[in-house]
Amino acid sequence: MTLDKRTGLIHHPYVPPSGFGAVAPGVHKASTVIFPNVAALQARSWRSKTGYTYGLHGTPTSFTLEERIATLEGGVQTLLVPSGLATITLVDMALLKQGDEVLIPENAYGPNKELARNELAAWGITHRFYNPMDAMGLAALITPQTKLVWLEAAGSVTMEFPNLPALVKVAREHGVTTALDNTWGAGLAFNPFDLTPDGEPLGVDISVQALTKYASGGGDVLMGSVTTCDEALHLKLKFCHMRMGWGVGANDIEMVLRSLPSLPLRYDAHDAAARTLAAWWSQRREVIQVLHPALPGAPGHECWKKLCTRAAGLFSVVFNERYATEQVYAFLDALRLFKLGYSWAGPVSLAVPYNLAVMREEPAYRGVLVRFSVGLEAPADLINDCQQALQALGP
Ligand SMILES: *Cc1c(COP(=O)(O)O)cnc(C)c1O
Repeated sequence: MTLDKRTGLIHHPYVPPSGFGAVAPGVHKASTVIFPNVAALQARSWRSKTGYTYGLHGTPTSFTLEERIATLEGGVQTLLVPSGLATITLVDMALLKQGDEVLIPENAYGPNKELARNELAAWGITHRFYNPMDAMGLAALITPQTKLVWLEAAGSVTMEFPNLPALVKVAREHGVTTALDNTWGAGLAFNPFDLTPDGEPLGVDISVQALTKYASGGGDVLMGSVTTCDEALHLKLKFCHMRMGWGVGANDIEMVLRSLPSLPLRYDAHDAAARTLAAWWSQRREVIQVLHPALPGAPGHECWKKLCTRAAGLFSVVFNERYATEQVYAFLDALRLFKLGYSWAGPVSLAVPYNLAVMREEPAYRGVLVRFSVGLEAPADLINDCQQALQALGP
């Protein structure tokens, strides 16, 4: 069959030789996946990674990142979603139905709570917030309606590190599924599926991460991962994932795959720099509390020490309440290297003010809180930046 040039540009006979080897995994892009014959098309199965059916259900590129994240988390199966927040939505939608209740730590990532207050409430799914520093208090909240317990370590903004094994144990004793937002730990600070390496086997059921943060590390990709060890639980999540149609683009996956090898090095660099800055802040009389789980005296420090040696590059400071909000804003506006912006784990250091009075039912601190994400700049430069900006704080 001789082909018109136009057709030839689409149906070209050339097939490159197989066996190409390179450092970087290939970037395969597809909505349509082509089957060799009708029998193969009809026998398609997207349940496991044995073949390809449609771009939404996996390509060599997405399978490769899923497998690497599963290894990072110490799990078996991983699903990718288009953002960190979508991991929370996926878990909630897959596991909860009308009449069920979900328990969420009061220091959870804010949008997790907002999802519960709005969409989940509208679907007849109730929620309660629990104090993550009180495992017995969690036990007291569990009822037959409780179907899911969210966990976060360290907590968002106030950085309390909970007794994770104790919380998981309580949930397990009541037969309630646990899902950990493991963005802070990034699969490096501790092993979510193996929380008591010397004792009885104990792990969370689901670990999710905003790959947007450390896995990407560039401040330029949005993605999330949902990892499990249990095949039945994975399939439940995968069915929901498929029905919701949450695909992740190959170019974004490529960027995360490219960042992954340097993840442990970057994590440790962020960690070391953040500890240096947190130590500096703890000597400053302008702040009454430095919230960093690796800092002795910080809330949950003992629990952190039992589970981790590493920490992320995040910490918060609580200004003395004699400083008005406007004064703290003037400090923030005077920062030069620290930029003002949400998210974290990129090369650029960031700062964000938070008003605990509107975030928590019983705020532990009254002064203005500032959360720092320490980037990859030289720590001494970052300290100098904080020092010069403090002059704008005023008396
Ligand atoms: C950033 C973040 C998320 C959400 O990630 P996005 O990709 O921004 O949606 C979820 N949980 C935690 C703890 C986070 O820090």
